[in-house]
Amino acid sequence: MSLITCQKLSKHFGDTPVLQDIDLTVEAGEVVVIVGPSGSGKSTLLRCINVLEPLTGGTLEIDGKRLGERGTSARAIRRETGMVFQQFNLFPHMTARENVMLGPRKVRGQSRTEARATADRLLERVGLLQWADQLPGQLSGGQQQRVAIARALAVNPKVMLFDEPTSALDPELRGEVLQAMQDLAAEGMTMLIVTHEMRFAEAAANRLIFMDQGRVVHDGRPGPMFADPPSERFREFLGHVK
Ligand code: ADP
Ligand code: MG
Repeated sequence: MSLITCQKLSKHFGDTPVLQDIDLTVEAGEVVVIVGPSGSGKSTLLRCINVLEPLTGGTLEIDGKRLGERGTSARAIRRETGMVFQQFNLFPHMTARENVMLGPRKVRGQSRTEARATADRLLERVGLLQWADQLPGQLSGGQQQRVAIARALAVNPKVMLFDEPTSALDPELRGEVLQAMQDLAAEGMTMLIVTHEMRFAEAAANRLIFMDQGRVVHDGRPGPMFADPPSERFREFLGHVK
């Protein structure tokens, strides 16, 4: 079953086309990594799928709910996806647990007791239960990003979107975040991930998408695409990130 379907999705900022005719389908349980040069539209595509940006053209459907269709609000679609950003965006004055409790309280309408149980279950899942009472500033970058993953999971999304989740981290802190993501993938979560971590892509992704200048240029299996790059442009790109 398709969880994400984009058809001829396009996005302009003023006169500048940023996404052009994106056709993309993601099936339940798939782990899809998106790569491409800076400015190719990767973040904008995730933001459109998370309904943070209105589309200029085409259609977007998440779990059978079509954006813009009568009776389907942007909010209803947004709550099907959880997003993790490069900058963790945790509330600095709230503890790790309180950060994770916000979504269940506000979006899912859970009581404090329920939300607390949800938060503790998810903090345990990312290995951080013992840090639940710490403020973000007392945690390492890798721990903060794992709290951000728990927070995104807390509204029980069908799809998780990651935009360069390890790019702001020191190299020695990246592994723990990638491991948390790999665990999620192994549990069957549907994931769409923008990252330059090619080893992660090779180990965890079913599909690799190469974007360039607002278009999907390649969409295939990571192993074969790395072993035998389907274009000179992609080969050149790999040479820069590997
Ligand atoms: P990537 O994530 O692949 O680096 P982005 O999606 O961030 O690319 O950006 C794609 C293009 O869209 C870039 O040229 C960028 O300058 C432009 N862009 C992104 N957001 C905006 C915005 N809010 N207003 C105008 N241009 C934007
Ligand atoms: Mg980006």
